[in-house]
Amino acid sequence: MSDPAAINQSVNSPQRQYPLERTRNFGICAHIDAGKTTTTERILFYTGLIHKIGDVDDGNTVTDWMEQEKERGITITSAAVTSFWTQKKEAGLQKNFEGIAHRINIIDTPGHVDFTAEVERSMRVLDGAVAVFCGVAGVQPQSETVWRQATKYKVPRIAFVNKMDRTGANFDNALNDMRKKLGAYAFPIYLNIGAEDKFAGVIDVVNQKAIIWGEGDLTNEGLKYEITEIPEAHKERAQTALAELIDAVSNKDDSIAELVLEDKPISAPVLKAAIRRLTCKIELIPVLCGTAFKKKGIQVLIDAVVDYLPSPLDIPPAQGMVPDTETSLEVPPNDNSKFCSLAFKLWTDPYAGKLVFFRVYSGQLKKGDSIYNPRTRKRERVSRLMVIQGSERKDVDSVYSGDIAALVGLRNITTGDTLCNEDFDIALEPPTFPEPVISMAIEPKSKADQDKMSQGLQRLAEEDPTFRCFTNEETGQLIIAGMGELHLEIIRDRLKREFSVEADAGAPQIAYRETITKPAEGEGKFIRQSGGRGQYGHAIIDVEPNEKGKGIEILNKVVGGTIPKEYIPAVHAGIEEAIKSGVYAGFQVIDIKVSIKDGSFHEVDSNELAFKMAGIFALKDAFAQAGPILLEPIMKVEATTPDEYQGDILGDINRRRGMIQGVDAKNGQTVLTAQVPLAEMFGYATAIRSLSKGRASYSMEPFSFEQVPNSVLTTVMDAAKKRPAARS
Ligand code: GDP
Repeated sequence: MSDPAAINQSVNSPQRQYPLERTRNFGICAHIDAGKTTTTERILFYTGLIHKIGDVDDGNTVTDWMEQEKERGITITSAAVTSFWTQKKEAGLQKNFEGIAHRINIIDTPGHVDFTAEVERSMRVLDGAVAVFCGVAGVQPQSETVWRQATKYKVPRIAFVNKMDRTGANFDNALNDMRKKLGAYAFPIYLNIGAEDKFAGVIDVVNQKAIIWGEGDLTNEGLKYEITEIPEAHKERAQTALAELIDAVSNKDDSIAELVLEDKPISAPVLKAAIRRLTCKIELIPVLCGTAFKKKGIQVLIDAVVDYLPSPLDIPPAQGMVPDTETSLEVPPNDNSKFCSLAFKLWTDPYAGKLVFFRVYSGQLKKGDSIYNPRTRKRERVSRLMVIQGSERKDVDSVYSGDIAALVGLRNITTGDTLCNEDFDIALEPPTFPEPVISMAIEPKSKADQDKMSQGLQRLAEEDPTFRCFTNEETGQLIIAGMGELHLEIIRDRLKREFSVEADAGAPQIAYRETITKPAEGEGKFIRQSGGRGQYGHAIIDVEPNEKGKGIEILNKVVGGTIPKEYIPAVHAGIEEAIKSGVYAGFQVIDIKVSIKDGSFHEVDSNELAFKMAGIFALKDAFAQAGPILLEPIMKVEATTPDEYQGDILGDINRRRGMIQGVDAKNGQTVLTAQVPLAEMFGYATAIRSLSKGRASYSMEPFSFEQVPNSVLTTVMDAAKKRPAARS
């Protein structure tokens, strides 16, 4: 863990205002409606960034920038907001943090699964997260998804059980849910005092104190709290919770285990330091509670962010690769190292224009400096840097390692690009995005809007990597593809609002994919000699299956210049083109690794086009020999039904080629979880309604891509051929 004095010397630039160890980059992630937006809003209020508390229901919250978000109450896009927090002495906090301001960057993450790209990209740049749960509903299906994503990206977490004021709120149930459904090693550090309309405050388990909030309207300073002795009725529960917490910590932390064994007292700061160590290693989840809406529990939540969530120094350094090679690099945070950052979000701001949100991993960047993009091999000058503070956009002169800020007015940058010093050729591991599962044809209501629509779609695709748009070569139709019907509906909505184009869309189609099952070699030659200047391109490649979800990797392993260096990008481009249009059945190829390893050239006849064609042919040749298969999107479906309809609903899921994962019955309701091919889910809303006389409900989210079984392969291929719009 960080030793502040030593760190200050070595990694912090003297110019920076907030040293790295006092920076927290965190996100608030939650199931939709759990209260993420309200919690964010309250944090911004208590940190003094906004002066009027905005309620989501009024549609004036700071992070909900987009019109339709206000209407739908969904936070679709993630915004990074900077704010500052000074801990108060009376909160009984770790000594070295008392009275010292921390810089906290909040990255808002969406809760709706149709917007997984947003969650994924924000997870990539977070150092920690606050997982918000509803105190009534506990762990909901989509909270599991977000939790899984946080685990995938190794994000340390604290949990906030919100809505403690609502009827039916139950802290212990929510805690048990977390342990059971998420397998979380979760322990309360703040317990509730009362619930529902009697929720009065929390018990600080570590310090064995009560924190009681006053009632009444929120003043401009926020709700004040009082720290008191624990009320008699809660004493036993508080002591048990402390004993359990110490026990949980001692199971994982040797220094606390030793104190326990030797029967020595464990002081609050010592225990807190151990909780911090374990939380940063994702070995423990501290749990808090409160009600964002009633403004209770927010100050202690921000304290907990500072106390327990990691600074950029407390997590493993970012990983990168030297482009086109398999050499990996680490980028530890240090202002004095070379500049390296990741662009994680593009946004067109109505006032400032095109913004690129980026996270700095090492070094510093000043206005006027140049940045280098290894993907495009281009340099661009940074004329303006900005941070979002509350509802304000604030220009800054420089940014340092660990910071999150926005570049203004830069052109050729997309999500996932590394931006670095020119002499630091590195590609940070970009976030991986799920493949679109659904596509539809789209056309403008008025023919005159064709160009405007294409431009709009192209810009939306730049901003959102799970949204794609392309022209179907056979039909000439414009196709949009995304993560679900809601996702594509919102795209159409944005077309209308931001580009004034109204569009009609066709029926949704399944986005199948292709991949391979074994390694193979392939050769591609493009040789023409018909008088005059000829064409000569020749490439030999290896293909092999890549790890699921890893996408496409293309490596250059040519030695001795058998393909001259200047033609490698052309071979690369050819391979990419073949991958896009598919080989086996005309669907995009995923999860393969390609190594360009050999070839030959002709002094006079070789050119880029010939090598591009050689790349296409080589990929097609290799692919055909590598055991190609067709993949289909599989959804995770959760259906909730009164017990009496369970049998019918199970039978129906089986008929839809579904695999039942769990049947969980409680209080007369059964929750069924299953994995079902998306192709079989059209019309499910009607089916489940009629099977249960309207009493069952369901939700679904993309889960994986799996091989289309032979029994339905021919049907799928035939249908796909008849519906070229499905191809994506
Ligand atoms: P998000 O979808 O997770 O961003 O959730 P929101 O912050 O938009 O909240 C969803 C709904 O729950 C809104 O109507 C909020 O007013 C309400 N809400 C949020 N926090 C609380 C709370 O602590 N108590 C109660 N009773 N309602 C809350």
